Amino acid sequence: MNKRPVLFEPFRIKSVEQMPITSSEDRKKWIQEAGYNVFGLTAQQVTIDLLTDSGTGAMSDQQWAEMIRADESYAGSRSFLELEQTVKDITGMPFVIPVHQGRAAEHLLFSELVEKDQLIPSNGHFDTTLANIEDRGAEGVNLLHADGKQPFTDSPFKGDIDLSALELLFNTEQSRIPFVMVSVTNNASGGQPVSLKNIRATSELCRKYQKPLIIDACRFAENAFFIKKRESEYATYSVKEIALELFSLCDGMTFSGKKDALSNIGGLVCIRDKALAEKIKNRLIIYEGFPTYGGLAGYSLAAMSQGLKEVLDERYLEYRLRTTEWMVEKLIQASIPVLRPAGGHAIYIDSKEFFPHIPQHHLPGITLTTSLYTIGGVRCCELGTVAFGKTLPGEQDGEDGQRSPELDVVRLALPRRTYTEAHMGYVVECLIELYSQRNECHGFRFCEEAPVMRHFRSTFTPVK
Ligand SMILES: *Cc1c(COP(=O)(O)O)cnc(C)c1O
Repeated sequence: MNKRPVLFEPFRIKSVEQMPITSSEDRKKWIQEAGYNVFGLTAQQVTIDLLTDSGTGAMSDQQWAEMIRADESYAGSRSFLELEQTVKDITGMPFVIPVHQGRAAEHLLFSELVEKDQLIPSNGHFDTTLANIEDRGAEGVNLLHADGKQPFTDSPFKGDIDLSALELLFNTEQSRIPFVMVSVTNNASGGQPVSLKNIRATSELCRKYQKPLIIDACRFAENAFFIKKRESEYATYSVKEIALELFSLCDGMTFSGKKDALSNIGGLVCIRDKALAEKIKNRLIIYEGFPTYGGLAGYSLAAMSQGLKEVLDERYLEYRLRTTEWMVEKLIQASIPVLRPAGGHAIYIDSKEFFPHIPQHHLPGITLTTSLYTIGGVRCCELGTVAFGKTLPGEQDGEDGQRSPELDVVRLALPRRTYTEAHMGYVVECLIELYSQRNECHGFRFCEEAPVMRHFRSTFTPVK
């Protein structure tokens, strides 16, 4: 199916959901009422929602069937035992602990392992991971490989960690490092994959310096399929074999079931060390629930277990990764500055290249998210000056007082199995239409600036 001019969704539709179809007059009014922040829109005001791929996917008939079959027992539920077996088969981890979502896994693990003033190196911490590290009074250190910092160059594993930077950090700060994290795929750098070669070398370095390696495994199946396609030694391996190999190199993992478990909620923390697993389970009881349900209904454990089996289907993964690749090809043809090569779960557009006439402190990412919404009812997420920048002390309203990140992007994340090629083609058309009108667009400044995670709750005013 690869490289066909059309996409081939390897599923057919059994149940449909009406899409909100709206007029551009209404959208102009609604986005203004939302303070020009797409997070302030209601879902009913959005036609195609690409805000996130987290928990927004469609479940299969098999998942729904397993949910009806689920066992809601408090202790020792069959649904837990089935999930535990599925996870052991994929990860080889002896201790499998369910939690309500990925950040709960981070909270529990870090409560045991992270102390004040420590450093946690990574190829790229996700925002909740970083927030949980900082909540412990420690610091996350991103050591992304140089290739990953180049938005427009093709390179197969732009999610890799910089091994020499990691070794240098071990040499200078060994006593402050409790463990190393590797995020697959690297959500913070465009959903780019990490090679098995890089994970193996990271694992060897960790052994040398006697530090555990923890994998943030949210998109492990997408990453494994990238490895199959791009790392020639693994071309004949199944995705499941690659996953097993990958997990064999680490000491533990955190996982959000809202991504590659094809579920709407759920998460896991898995660990090799028995004593640590015991400590986590004791804390789990205080914060999440008994260790055989971890804050989830039995039916959510069942949905995750079945989803984890389905996500290993290589026809699904082929279609999934081909979708982002197909969109990126179309956008490159239209000269739109899109990050390349395509990542797994999302496409990323460089907003300051898209609107070269809008200075970064006038928030070109807000121009892109709001005008894409007004043109086509498509919702996506700013990950640039608003999300990762800062207002400098003594300055106001973003005029010249914004410190902007190097990469100012907007992310269009694709929910799993939810939209068709026609929908994605429509999104591409909306982007092309917007690009042709880009010179008529204007910037924004902060109206009310939220104190943390500014992209969620700030509001904006047009700069005309
Ligand atoms: C989503 C995500 C998390 C957090 O998971 P939640 O289920 O949203 O709490 C952690 N790491 C990465 C890489 C993620 O994408």
